Parts: sequence; structure tokens; C-alpha cells
Amino acid sequence: MNASVTLRPAARSPVLAEGLAPGRELADLAARAEKVAAVAAAHAYAVDSASRFPAEAIDAARAERLLGAAVPRELGGDGAGISDIVDVCYVLGRACASTAMIYAMHQASVACLARHSRGSPWHQALLRRLSKEQLLLASSTTEGERGGDVRNSKAAIEHRDSRITLERAATVISYGEAADGIITTARRSADAASSDQVLAVFLKSDYTLEQEIGWDALGMRGTCSAGFKFVASGAAEQILPVRYDEIHARTMMPVAHLLWSGAWAGIAAAAADRARAFVRKATRRAEGTLPPGASHLTRANASLQRLRSLVAGAAQRFELAADDPAVLESVDFQTGMNLCKVNASELALATVMSAMQACGLAGYRNDGDFSVGRHLRDILSSPIMISNDRILANLAMASLLGGAPASLRD
Ligand SMILES: Cc1cc2nc3c(=O)[nH]c(=O)nc-3n(C[C@H](O)[C@H](O)[C@H](O)COP(=O)(O)OP(=O)(O)OC[C@H]3O[C@@H](n4cnc5c(N)ncnc54)[C@H](O)[C@@H]3O)c2cc1C
Repeated sequence: MNASVTLRPAARSPVLAEGLAPGRELADLAARAEKVAAVAAAHAYAVDSASRFPAEAIDAARAERLLGAAVPRELGGDGAGISDIVDVCYVLGRACASTAMIYAMHQASVACLARHSRGSPWHQALLRRLSKEQLLLASSTTEGERGGDVRNSKAAIEHRDSRITLERAATVISYGEAADGIITTARRSADAASSDQVLAVFLKSDYTLEQEIGWDALGMRGTCSAGFKFVASGAAEQILPVRYDEIHARTMMPVAHLLWSGAWAGIAAAAADRARAFVRKATRRAEGTLPPGASHLTRANASLQRLRSLVAGAAQRFELAADDPAVLESVDFQTGMNLCKVNASELALATVMSAMQACGLAGYRNDGDFSVGRHLRDILSSPIMISNDRILANLAMASLLGGAPASLRD
């Protein structure tokens, strides 16, 4: 039995049904994602080898109108829910990790815009344009020496009348050169504290990117996550009307973690598929006797199963809480969404490692049908992308609160 082609449980939740445009069934989005995945898979080797942007897959995503899938229907999108988009990340992750991660990062930016720009004509117009023209958004949170400290910024927005400027040492902006716009955190103003942040959107014509660091990385090579000096100017209305700490807690952190986890689950599923194919072939060759590494396939299946239900369950939890700020900002929810990222990255890595061990040398090789080298290199980015250590350290105080639930059903 192959790993299921989507992350979604068999039955659709009512929340998801409401999130879809009339006449557009979930199968439509899933089928469109599969078409893009086929293109992504055909170019995944070349993208990884050359460490180049997966242009063919992103063009296909544009053709299938996947970039605007989560834009609200009244602004021209599909109004897809988070589970739908997580599922697309999973489908793409099975084909090409870089394509899936680019899609995930783009959609995290779209979610921030869609959920926090009501009452801002500039951003509503941008969402409409994004949907119509299938614009691709990149994001810049990592800055200078601060690593994954997303909740502090060094560079500040400078205000002059109704205009703003920003100059930022952006250590990493994935697909910065290919994007049509960049959504970035910044200090509110020159005299604001580092944690007093805003989120602003600049379109390509608003900024220059001077590359300062290249991207020759172990994995996720197609994300082209180079470092730039980012210099932007625009209108003050390009700043989202909501404080970044609110956006971060209610959308950016949970949605990014869910979408990344969907992509990682896809990578893990692809590796497990290769291991299954290897064990099947070896069993056939030995006339029905399982190879010695078969138990590693069982382990890969077990961790993949846990990973899939972790991510699908967390996405449903987000959907249930999506319009309730009190729940979204609760310690329990914030801890859950942060731990989802940590656990998903660990389970995905464990799955790919088990797949590698099941395949033995055939998995370790870079060539051949059973190679899982690319999957392993790609998935090794998962504990680093906002370091698991940083997340666990930040959660340490929250871990002191409360106690284990009294019942298994709580
Ligand atoms: C594929 C990929 C794509 C990315 N794309 C983007 C992008 O488009 N835009 C963007 O802004 N960023 C992006 N990033 C950056 C990413 O989100 C993180 O900000 C970055 O990877 C963190 O860098 P770091 O490991 O050097 O820094 P740090 O987070 O500072 O971690 C450095 C080391 O310190 C340890 N550490 C850090 N804090 C603690 C702590 N509190 N307790 C104990 N140990 C700690 C960690 O274990 C780690 O070993 C991307 C990263 C990857 C891998």
C-alpha cells in the first residue's frame, strides 16, 4: 500500500466545506495540485543539482491558479482553508521539496495578508491582484546576526510624510530574486524597541536586492535562499494595520509551522515510498523472503503515520480556533503549534532515516530508483528552519504551567 496521496482524513470537516468556493470541490484543488506535482517531480533532480529556482513548477502553479488558492473568494481566490493548503504542500513535498517549501512560504504570507488586512484598501487590492496575476510573495524575517529570533527586528521603518523606507540586512530571503514582492518584519520606527514590530509588503518595483550571501546548501537547494541587502521604499499604507505580535501569534507562527510541516510530511512520504519499492523488489527477488532491512520500512511507516495525523490534527485545530483570538493566543494553543513544528520535523527526519536504512546502499547512493539522499538532505533543513532548540528554550517557562491532563480524552 502506498502512502496516502493526501494528508486529509477521509471525511471532510464542515469548516473546510465552508472554506471552498461554490462549484469548486476539494477534488478540484487536489487535482490541480497533482498536476503541478507532476511537473515539479519531472524537474526535481535538475533543480537540486543546479541549486536553481523550480521555475517550471511555479509556472505550473500559476497556470493552475494555486498561488491565490487561499485568497478569500470575494477577492478572486478559492477561499481555501488551511487544511487544503497544508495538503497541497504535502502533495508538492512528495514531488519536489523546494517547490513545496516555496509554496508553503508564499502561502504563509498570503495568510497574514488575508487575515490581518481587513480595512486596508491597499492590501485588499494587493490580494485581488495576487489572485488575478498569480503573484509570488517571499518573506524576510531573519536579519543580521539574530538568526531565527523572529520576534525582534533591528532595521526600522523610516517615515517621511506619507512615505516609508526600510534598509535591512536580510540574511536569508528564499527565492528573493524570483518573487514579485516581499513581506517583511521591521521595527515600527527608529525609536521603537526591537520587539515593537510591524509587517510591511513591498512589491518588486519598490525595492532593490543586493546579494551578499549565496545559497550553496546541503538541501532545499531550489529555494535559492540567498542573503541580501534589502532597500525598499513605499507608501505608509503598505504597512499592515495590525501589530506584528498579534499577526505572529494568530497567523504567522501557526500557519507557517503547519504549512512547513505539510511539506516535510510530503518529503517523508516520498522517502517511505522509495523504501517500500525497494523492499518489494528485494522480496520478489528472494521469492517471497523479506530482506533484513524490512523492519526499517515498518518504522518508516509508523513514524509517517504519526506525522500525518499530527499535522492533519493540528491543521484542524487551527481551523476550529481561527476566528477566536483568545484561543489563538492562549498558552496551550501557542505551545501546541510550536511543538507541532518541533515534532513534525523530528518525525519527518526519523521517517527519512528509516527509509534510508531500509534501502541500505541503494538508498545512500545519489543515483538509482531507491536513492533517498535528496530527501535526507532536504529534510535536514527542518530542525533548523527556526531552530528546534530555540523553540524548546522559549517554551521552557510555559512547560512549568499546569499539569498533564487528568483524562486521555482531554
Ligand atoms: C531552507 C530555508 C529557507 C529559509 N527561508 C527563509 C526566508 O525566506 N526568510 C527568512 O527570513 N528566513 C528564512 N530562513 C531562515 C530560518 O527561518 C531561520 O531564521 C534560520 O535558519 C535560523 O538561522 P541560524 O540557525 O543561523 O540561527 P539561530 O536561530 O540563532 O540558531 C543558531 C544556533 O543556535 C542554537 N540556538 C538558538 N537559539 C537558542 C536557544 N534559545 N537555546 C538554545 N539554543 C539556541 C540553535 O540550535 C542553532 O544551533 C530559511 C531557512 C532555511 C533552512
